[in-house]
Amino acid sequence: MVGVAATCLRTLRRRDFVAGAALIDGRWVAGRQRDVVVDPATGETIADVARCGANDMALAIEAADRAFQAWRSLLPARRGAILRAWASLMRDHSEDLASLVTSEQGKPLAEARYEIEYGAGFLEWFAAEGERAYGETIPSHKANSLLQVRMQPVGIAAAVTPWNFPVAMITRKAGAALAAGCPMIVKPAPETPLSALALARLAEEAGVPAGVFQALVGEPIELSKLLLRDTRIRALSFTGSTQVGRLLLEGSAQTVKKVSLELGGHAPFLIFDDVDLDKAVNGVMEAKFATSGQDCLAANRIYVQRGIHDTFVKALSAAMARLKVGHGLHSATDIGPMTKLSVAEKCRAQITNAVERGAQVVSVRNDERLGPNFVVPTLLSQVTDDMLIAREETFGPVAAVLPFDSEEEVITRANASEMGLAGYVYTDNLRRALRLSEKIECGMLGINTASFTGPPIPFGGWKQSGLGREGSRHGLSEYMELKYVCFGDLAA
Ligand code: NAD
Repeated sequence: MVGVAATCLRTLRRRDFVAGAALIDGRWVAGRQRDVVVDPATGETIADVARCGANDMALAIEAADRAFQAWRSLLPARRGAILRAWASLMRDHSEDLASLVTSEQGKPLAEARYEIEYGAGFLEWFAAEGERAYGETIPSHKANSLLQVRMQPVGIAAAVTPWNFPVAMITRKAGAALAAGCPMIVKPAPETPLSALALARLAEEAGVPAGVFQALVGEPIELSKLLLRDTRIRALSFTGSTQVGRLLLEGSAQTVKKVSLELGGHAPFLIFDDVDLDKAVNGVMEAKFATSGQDCLAANRIYVQRGIHDTFVKALSAAMARLKVGHGLHSATDIGPMTKLSVAEKCRAQITNAVERGAQVVSVRNDERLGPNFVVPTLLSQVTDDMLIAREETFGPVAAVLPFDSEEEVITRANASEMGLAGYVYTDNLRRALRLSEKIECGMLGINTASFTGPPIPFGGWKQSGLGREGSRHGLSEYMELKYVCFGDLAA
């Protein structure tokens, strides 16, 4: 029997979105070998895609090298117009793109639609930022001289992208690179190649020249090896696990590339006893269960002040009971499957470990009818700092609640992690909010809000959560070099 995702893909307006060809030097390459794409909810094969190898990557690097000078020489406004056309095509085909994302990634269709809009926003943001790469004039410290700082494109950029946001993590990187004047080669996650290859089709239609945006799917180590060792690849942007980020950083050292890394999170979510409980519960629901928990911004450690702990747990449990688990293509679904079985297994291992060490499972639901990639929303209370779930990222719909007593204590516990991507604080006390905004060690902090991401903000982490920033005006500089120019001997 043909499953819901395969049926959905058969009804796409753009049948070419499932052709599974890679885009290399302006040509669509079907490849001699193919890899399958599966629906993570059912395990059903829904498409197959070209498996690119080292030779294909070598051709892509050559093509990017040939394309670089012409692309960097285009007026920024022209590059911007092409990026805007790309964003506009994404919106024209948003239903097809969202269907691809849900079919191969698993997230609910409403979230997939949001991702298309979020992803298109980065192309538009950087279209404008590219026109504002002003540089500086420095008041001179030398007689008869003029000092300038220019911003110039770094060269060819490579991107290795994850499966949890298979569209937006590509446009956030490619928008910045292309606006800066750099060609980009993308190696998407093998779990979600269709979204990447569809984006490549739209890039071509928008007028991105051959070699300027290329997408190749294949064995990650084989493909990234070439990118790492080639001196023409000057920038590498990666989103994914800290473990792989370290490997790519180490590999980039051979050729001293400009590296930006968006890695794992382990966000603390602090709730003080002065808050409106409903607002705090809504905040946790958003910060924990978006993308079915597979979000690097996800609240991983929910610290609740002891006075409101029990009431909070009850209210959160009631809210979680309303979440519908199922196939992302069913309209009622809030929580889809984990994209990878390993993620579901990690969630289950963290639950077992917590229970063995004394945590309580507050909400228990039966997930037997669902496939192995599903994890039903699970609330663990009485979690302690020694449990796995308090020490490492979950990346799934398991909410861990830890009681705390004092502000000082919770700051120390929140900061006792090598991760520092996002954090959340809920309090009605202004002075406390200001103190915490200073003291929590992370790249992005939401005070009384769980919703803060978007193209204008500098997305990135502290400590082992990453290097550099994406989005915002800072995102462009990851693909630009500063050039200081001193004009001397200017006396008449
Ligand atoms: P992963 O690091 O295994 O995979 C991410 C990408 O790296 C994929 O394209 C994959 O094919 C590639 N890859 C894997 N091994 C590689 C290797 N040895 N050499 C070169 N490329 C390789 O990530 P995962 O475990 O599948 O994803 C979950 C992790 O990603 C979580 O820890 C999560 O926090 C992190 N993540 C972070 C962000 C962020 O913005 N900070 C966003 C999404 C995911």
